[in-house]
Amino acid sequence: MKILVINAGSSSLKYQLYNMTDESVLASGRVERIGMDSSIVTHEPAGKPEVRSVSEILEHTTAVRRVMDMLTDPEVGVLASINEIDAVGHRIVHGGETFRESALVTPEVKLEIRNLFDLAPLHNPAHMMGIQAVEAVLTGVPQAVVFDTAFHQTMPQSSYLYPIPMVLYKRHKIRRYGFHGTSHAYVSDKAAKVLGKPLESLKLVSCHIGNGASCTAVLEGKSYDTSMGMTPLEGLMMGTRSGDLDPAIVPYTMNKEDLTLSEVNSMLNKHSGLMAISGLSSDMREITDAMKEGDSHAQLAFDMYTYRVRKYIGAYAAAMNGIDTLVFTAGVGENSAVLRETVCSGLTFLGLELDPELNAQRSKEARIISTPDSRVSVLVVPTNEELIIARDTFKLVSAEA
Ligand code: ADP
Repeated sequence: MKILVINAGSSSLKYQLYNMTDESVLASGRVERIGMDSSIVTHEPAGKPEVRSVSEILEHTTAVRRVMDMLTDPEVGVLASINEIDAVGHRIVHGGETFRESALVTPEVKLEIRNLFDLAPLHNPAHMMGIQAVEAVLTGVPQAVVFDTAFHQTMPQSSYLYPIPMVLYKRHKIRRYGFHGTSHAYVSDKAAKVLGKPLESLKLVSCHIGNGASCTAVLEGKSYDTSMGMTPLEGLMMGTRSGDLDPAIVPYTMNKEDLTLSEVNSMLNKHSGLMAISGLSSDMREITDAMKEGDSHAQLAFDMYTYRVRKYIGAYAAAMNGIDTLVFTAGVGENSAVLRETVCSGLTFLGLELDPELNAQRSKEARIISTPDSRVSVLVVPTNEELIIARDTFKLVSAEA
């Protein structure tokens, strides 16, 4: 079975085509600048160099058509015909309280995703455009939706409610939802397998640290608490997002700097985090390189960033009355040994002991980086959100057949 995974944004569309027989990626790519002039299509067939083309792509249906052209191109294509695509899986950021797991696309499911537009105005409408574009181009091909929020639907009320008037939850569903759920679920499960223990027996904290970043407390195999909230702005300090701050700063800054709601929103989402403190970059590689050169702003940004990760791990150890497994994943978590070392250096009170050599090794495999005597097992587990979407889609479509 061949499955196309799509992550549709408002002006971009990323794709990966999987052969589910061996879960190999046949091709991947992205369409950027949809709706603007000179859109760019980048297509990478497995084992061959990537190709780029520039053309005008005004909306998502044309983008999906261009992807089909690439996938079936005589030279750089990997399919004889688009009829070889058996199913399409979409990443959906917000599943609200409706979706506790992935689902096949039906008229009812589409209506529910529409009902969630208010909660994820930047993401869900774009995902819906992706679904509709596939409907138009690959008529009759089954589609599935996989939600970033679904894994966190097991959180107890004491974790997900905010201490504000209950009427706001009842009327507007203002609560913690959490994100990166597919990643947290996958790396927790993988960590348990590497340790050879049932996931249900572990008190695990999963740190997904990429451009966006979140920590999740996984208790008895379920999400018990997570650092992102109603939106992906809460929690850890990120590349350009502030993460946690005193909510009173919002009206105070608006007043003092004469900012509008939308300006302050943009400040917290796009001009804060590593970028704001370092004045240099939102990319952790550039921050750590600058630190080596003695850049004090980069050092401060790194210190704040790692301090906040450590605080969340400590908080979640308390939330679960213990921790025996700590997992690092995503761009920064998988690649930055110095970040892992700095975070873990303040957790020795838990009996956590990192093995410096194992931590410094580079590998694409899930692995343990703590010493055999460490009371907390520390692991690096490469995440793969597209593969999880492909697997869920495969499961749902096979069950239906
Ligand atoms: P996204 O949240 O966009 O999916 P990723 O998980 O791909 O992000 O992470 C991207 C980030 O990973 C980059 O911004 C970069 O800071 C970081 N990163 C990648 N490689 C390294 C590395 N070797 N050292 C430190 N950070 C890295």
